[in-house]
Amino acid sequence: MTKVLVVEDSPFNMELVLEVLDDMGFIAAGVTNGADAIKNTENEVYDLILMDIELPGMDGVVIQKILKNNIKYKNIPIIALTAYAMKGDKERFIAEGFDDYISKPINMDDFTHRLEKYRK
Ligand SMILES: [Mg+2]
Repeated sequence: MTKVLVVEDSPFNMELVLEVLDDMGFIAAGVTNGADAIKNTENEVYDLILMDIELPGMDGVVIQKILKNNIKYKNIPIIALTAYAMKGDKERFIAEGFDDYISKPINMDDFTHRLEKYRK
């Protein structure tokens, strides 16, 4: 089973993403902030993390760097999930260490297609 952690503070986006992941047969857990993201990553083995950028407290870039700097978690793919969709943003997030980037609002076909390669 593919286990996915979703870090997202918007209840609307969270519900949508969890529903799609469930439809795909993935096991998904959701948290709304960085502290819970780090705590959950310590307690569960995830195959993929979907990371919103604008979050209360630590932003998604900082959380991603904390996880990638930890030898235990550095191989977990982390995808930025964000409304930042200006030209150059994808390159910027990849340069920050993210494995991929999906812009919001989410295009469901594109989203499911791109997540398929993380299926275990
Ligand atoms: Mg947000």
